[in-house]
Amino acid sequence: MTTIAIVGASLAGAKAAEGLRDNGFTGRIVLIGEETERPYERPPLSKGYLLGAEPRDKAFVHDAEWYVSHDIELLLGVRATDLDAATHTLMLDGYEPLRYDKLLLATGSRVRRLDVPGTELSGVRYLRTLQESDALLDHLRSADNVVVIGAGWIGLETAAAARTHGATVTVVELDTAPLRQVLGDEVAAIFAGLHRAQGVAFRFGTGVREFRGLGGQIRSVVLTDGTELPADVAVVGIGIQPATELAVTAGLAVDNGIAVDAGLRTSDPDIYSCGDVASVDHPLVGQRIRVEHWSNALNGGKAAALALLGQPVSYDRVPYFFTDQYDLGMEYAGYVPRDGHDSVVFRGDPDGGEFIAFWLKDGRVLAGMNVNVWDVQDGIQALVRAGYAGKAVDAARLADPAVPLADLA
Ligand SMILES: Cc1cc2nc3c(=O)[nH]c(=O)nc-3n(C[C@H](O)[C@H](O)[C@H](O)COP(=O)(O)OP(=O)(O)OC[C@H]3O[C@@H](n4cnc5c(N)ncnc54)[C@H](O)[C@@H]3O)c2cc1C
Repeated sequence: MTTIAIVGASLAGAKAAEGLRDNGFTGRIVLIGEETERPYERPPLSKGYLLGAEPRDKAFVHDAEWYVSHDIELLLGVRATDLDAATHTLMLDGYEPLRYDKLLLATGSRVRRLDVPGTELSGVRYLRTLQESDALLDHLRSADNVVVIGAGWIGLETAAAARTHGATVTVVELDTAPLRQVLGDEVAAIFAGLHRAQGVAFRFGTGVREFRGLGGQIRSVVLTDGTELPADVAVVGIGIQPATELAVTAGLAVDNGIAVDAGLRTSDPDIYSCGDVASVDHPLVGQRIRVEHWSNALNGGKAAALALLGQPVSYDRVPYFFTDQYDLGMEYAGYVPRDGHDSVVFRGDPDGGEFIAFWLKDGRVLAGMNVNVWDVQDGIQALVRAGYAGKAVDAARLADPAVPLADLA
């Protein structure tokens, strides 16, 4: 019987397993995950669940019975420790070596750790797993002072959750604005304004020197400029790294993630990769990109299933991301290389809280973000596709809400 092994029992891995069965694969599927929870989605961990507004169960990709009824061998709490591509063998912690015919690496990302004194104190938290979200939620329910380190998506969503729980919140960020590297100065300022209006204080241009505590519990965060901020909880959200260890030990090509072609195939013909860990030679963008977002795990998993079954795949989806913070909901589609845009065009009034922002280069739309404006993703993604195909748009018409987006692509 043909065996397909999937390492990484999270969204990408679970969607790949589902895709294999949906597309008629009747062989053996082994889904291996080092976490003890069955596959779940991470977005609620910093939003609805962390706010205490959504039940824990809502995060799971499938109910437990689904794995049984679809004959998927789900190995939880099991780490794949080594990979021998030549003999098609995976080494599993505490299990017999597993021989596979095809392998999918959906190992995702791990958080970057802060290397300063005091990180072992209770109350210094990271946020990647459901169990970390459980622990953070517990802290936030009683915390008076929360310090968030890093003003990226996770940091800002956590700040919003902490404010909603009633804590005093300070966000510490090395850069001069939140999300500046991703969104540029104009839109970064909007996110700073949103959080300030909710009472969040920012400390820009500074890092963390140490965490101080008493009796093993954090009491304060000392910044590199010497300021000491009181803290019952400090949440570190300073980015993630692709979990490439297995690919490296197996000698697969790695380039800011596991390097795959547009068909999600690695440098080994029987090994594929998708989700956060995969660095895809992206047909639309024309370069290798790694996308650390939910929709890429969802769609990449489905596409990987087809690729594993030998069907032609060209993974050219427009990168897509969403966030919810307070009463702001937004979707972002496209890809802007670092410092890769030369203008931002707004459709609608950013100060009014309902608008679309477009990032352009030489008049071509590279990305668009709708804030509290809905049902415009098809139009935005069509503009991004046209932009990457070389088509420029008229900036005045792009800014004019009376001109349908569909007329511009
Ligand atoms: C708190 C939070 C909020 C988020 N919110 C959003 C959002 O609002 N919008 C959005 O678009 N994206 C969001 N994301 C990002 C999104 O969740 C990720 O892009 C997505 O989880 C990636 O899925 P994945 O399956 O590729 O990898 P992961 O979810 O990282 O899963 C990989 C799994 O593989 C396991 N693994 C790794 N190595 C091994 C090994 N050797 N053996 C066994 N198992 C292994 C890991 O333990 C992990 O369970 C958020 C992420 C977090 C953490």
